[in-house]
Amino acid sequence: MKNEQRIVLITGGNSGIGKAIAQAFVADSKVIIVGRNEERLQSAVAELGDNCKAFKADVSQRKQIEEIIKHVGETYGRLDVLVNNAGFVEGTLSTMELTELEQAWDAMCDTILKGSFLLSHAAAQYLAKPGGRIINISSIAALTGGRNPGAAGYAAAKAGLHGLTYGVAKELSPQGITVNSIAPGFIADTLFTGHWSDTAVQGIVQQTPVGRSGNVNDIAATARYLASQEASFVTGQVINVNGGWLFGR
Ligand code: NDP
Repeated sequence: MKNEQRIVLITGGNSGIGKAIAQAFVADSKVIIVGRNEERLQSAVAELGDNCKAFKADVSQRKQIEEIIKHVGETYGRLDVLVNNAGFVEGTLSTMELTELEQAWDAMCDTILKGSFLLSHAAAQYLAKPGGRIINISSIAALTGGRNPGAAGYAAAKAGLHGLTYGVAKELSPQGITVNSIAPGFIADTLFTGHWSDTAVQGIVQQTPVGRSGNVNDIAATARYLASQEASFVTGQVINVNGGWLFGR
């Protein structure tokens, strides 16, 4: 296995943090990126080169998760790193009507939580034992409830991902598979945050001890560490990567 390229699957790998994680692995690994938007998938592949392949799928849909794993099994026969990164924020308690709110909750939780749960389960059969890695991308919102009111559902889903991390770590670590979560703080310039005003971003920077907002490479470097051999004793952890924003200044 030493000289073989690792197989890395990244959900939401066609944009933002996921694409940066793909970039961090693509020089020495086979990277499969998963997303729903065909155009973004193709443009990410064009950017990342021959070691990157795209798989169009919606991780909130069980059948499509089965397709992803079938593809991994048939194409590569094994998996080394699974990054559950796909996610979005939707649904504000105070402004949305109940039916709409319920739909938003279902879509968000099905993507962030159910998707990660089912993918972890399905991927486990192919993950390298020992040496396999599951990395879940959660959020500082899991610990704070979100920066602004209106992110309760998102915060709950991301907090659920922490519980999932602990539980799956207990189950898979005895087989040599580590399972961890990265909880990013504010990461600028993704589709998720690109629309934030300069004033809002400056407000966050002022509350952040390191004096800057995060960038996608901050998260990619942490993922790269968690996937390394050096991190084989790190499992069932939530790694906060937020420049100290959690505590403020
Ligand atoms: P982006 O919007 O740039 O990326 C989100 C990715 O998720 C896209 O590639 C999108 O692809 C994919 N995605 C969403 N829903 C699904 C789905 N149902 N099935 C498959 N893919 C899906 O945002 P970020 O890069 O910022 O976010 C990445 C992760 O980081 C998210 O989980 C987010 O919650 C988390 N995060 C981000 C922070 C930030 O400040 N940016 C802070 C804390 C956490 P497509 O639309 O093609 O499906």
